[in-house]
Amino acid sequence: LDNFEAAKSILRRFGLRRTAWDSLQELAKKYGIEIVPEWRLKDGPVTSEKIGQFHLQPAFELLNNELKVYSTSMLKTTRLKRIVLCSKVRIKRGIFEGQSGSKKNSRVCGIFVGKSGNLYLPLDWFSGSHSRHTFHHELYHCIDYHRSFWRYWDPGWALLNEKGFSYSREKYEGREIEYPRRVGFISTYAMTDVWEDKAELYASMILHYKYVVTKCDQDTVLKKKFLRIKELLLRFCPEYNDAFWKSRENCSITVWDDHTV
Ligand SMILES: [Zn+2]
Repeated sequence: LDNFEAAKSILRRFGLRRTAWDSLQELAKKYGIEIVPEWRLKDGPVTSEKIGQFHLQPAFELLNNELKVYSTSMLKTTRLKRIVLCSKVRIKRGIFEGQSGSKKNSRVCGIFVGKSGNLYLPLDWFSGSHSRHTFHHELYHCIDYHRSFWRYWDPGWALLNEKGFSYSREKYEGREIEYPRRVGFISTYAMTDVWEDKAELYASMILHYKYVVTKCDQDTVLKKKFLRIKELLLRFCPEYNDAFWKSRENCSITVWDDHTV
């Protein structure tokens, strides 16, 4: 409650439009989550900055649209706690994932922190289709985190890949041109880690279902992953059933650029 009150006072101080903020809070209430304009407490390796008032209306439109994909009971199952509307989200990579990779503060287009339950949605990088993708991508991390005792750990997933492939954040992150997605992957970013592979595929299935199905027709590894994701989700929540995927197929949007799904 303290955070919520603090958030409200910040907004009042900024003179933000009540309407968009009120609508965001109604949305939060409907889904039993919190939507806050920034997060000032320490949150592991993640830092973020405030948003401007002009961000509120697009944020409402985005979240209203994307949350609609889920029933309130489905969203409850994901155990999503909080959406942080913010700008300039940065993460110290090496610490967060226990990797030996770069320790520099990298700017990211979204992140989910399991421990705090915060899903960071940077609105300074707002763009219709990218932000939609980011929301579902991060929501999948939330599902993955709560899906089992083992959190993101899923050794069986990597076995679905072609022999000889290994995930690498250092090699593939931000290098779509040098390394176009290869067999078994929906994007280059999916090649950085098991959990990113799953989140990328999930977000694409939510937004571009028909495109994913077309890719699966030509790619047996991807097809196996597509079926595996469906199986994992159905076990996680019975509402991820055929009717759900049928509705995603009906709402499927076109992919214009192969690199940006
Ligand atoms: Zn991710």
